[in-house]
Amino acid sequence: MFNITIDGKEMQVPKGTMLIDACRQAGADIPTFCYDPDLRLAGSCRICVVEAKGRRNLLASCVTPVENNMVIETESPDVIEARKVVLELLLARHKLECHVCEKDGDCRLQDYCYRYGVGESRFAGEGPHFFKNDPNPFIERDYDKCIMCTRCVRACEEITGAQAINVEHRGHHARIATAFNGNLEDSPCVFCGQCVMVCPVGALNSKISMGKGKSYQVDKVATTCTYCGTGCTFELNVKDDQIVGVSSMRDEGFSPVNKGAVC
Ligand code: SF4
Ligand code: SF4
Ligand code: SF4
Repeated sequence: MFNITIDGKEMQVPKGTMLIDACRQAGADIPTFCYDPDLRLAGSCRICVVEAKGRRNLLASCVTPVENNMVIETESPDVIEARKVVLELLLARHKLECHVCEKDGDCRLQDYCYRYGVGESRFAGEGPHFFKNDPNPFIERDYDKCIMCTRCVRACEEITGAQAINVEHRGHHARIATAFNGNLEDSPCVFCGQCVMVCPVGALNSKISMGKGKSYQVDKVATTCTYCGTGCTFELNVKDDQIVGVSSMRDEGFSPVNKGAVC
């Protein structure tokens, strides 16, 4: 066991524990974009940084294992400043239109900007604009709202096994694309919707659900799928006695068969 002090709280955690898990055990609310416990680590978004006493650099808590006798602060002035800069960099190429966005009320970028008081970006300029029209009947792709967390890419590869999408280009012009940047219908995509389920912002949406109710306007009803005999569980989104969408259940250990995967 390793000793660690987090926000003044002394505790012990097993060797090999990641800082993010130790911090959460200590009650700290660590923000994350690219981190997903079911996917391989990316360590790319830097919103989960924490401060370790004696270290010159802030540590990305999702990819840093606990060391013995670490002293960690999760909301120090430097941590808060770094998170604000991350948010400003993301807003620099973000189409901020929360009022008409399907993700309003269920969006991590919106939540963290509110939490840290970031309303606009000092880095904003003429950014790249990405195509939105993908004629498939299921998934709207609005990459002007993408924060390049790559959760969709990893979920498509590691959960669905389709490898339909990946990162194209680098830097300011990086974006998610199919091979040769074509439509999803012409790729190995099977329209499972897993990418939509893991997207933390409004870049991917179900076309079938769009305009039928924001997350706080629907009731979520847990159910078991009747399509095949596997017995997957998920939530139906219900508004005015109509089913308007489906959400996977991943966080609550409530999905023992499919573990949040959707087909
Ligand atoms: S993705 Fe989030 S921050 Fe961006 S417009 Fe939609 S709700 Fe607002
Ligand atoms: S719908 Fe499924 S197969 Fe298609 S890109 Fe998304 S995760 Fe991959
Ligand atoms: S589309 Fe969504 S999940 Fe994929 S990289 Fe962009 S923000 Fe992340």
